Amino acid sequence: MDMRYNVDEIEFRLNEVVIKKLNKFRQNSSIVPESGGLLLGRTDIQGNTKIIDITVPLEGDIQSRFRFFRKSSKHKEILLESRKRCLYFKGNWHTHPVKDPEPSWVDMLSWKNTLKNCKPGESRYCFFVIIGIKKIRVWYGNIYTKEIKEANLIQEIL
Ligand SMILES: [Zn+2]
Repeated sequence: MDMRYNVDEIEFRLNEVVIKKLNKFRQNSSIVPESGGLLLGRTDIQGNTKIIDITVPLEGDIQSRFRFFRKSSKHKEILLESRKRCLYFKGNWHTHPVKDPEPSWVDMLSWKNTLKNCKPGESRYCFFVIIGIKKIRVWYGNIYTKEIKEANLIQEIL
């Protein structure tokens, strides 16, 4: 089942295949490092956004228990390649080694930076997903106002 979140007047959706992919990176044991990547998806005419695919840690990225740096240029290559499937950059995701994740100040800074570089397209938002051991939480930034808020979960897989 997809996971759906309320984002102001629109809906943000993580598709089932994406959730399955993300679940593999949950830091549910002490040896699992932090992971991250890009969110690739589509926005419909109403502004509802669906994440259809993600990039995952690649060779060249820096991973430790509490850190993930997306350093590989391959993420961008995959992003460009995804346009052929009509999938576009919608934000990014990363994991935290806690049950219920909260963004760190470093996350907030990096999200604000991402927002600055986001061009308004079919979506007025950029999305930031944190995968905790138990919970998946979503924040969204308004590309126009640069405001970042948390999205409310509508439905979750059991
Ligand atoms: Zn973080």
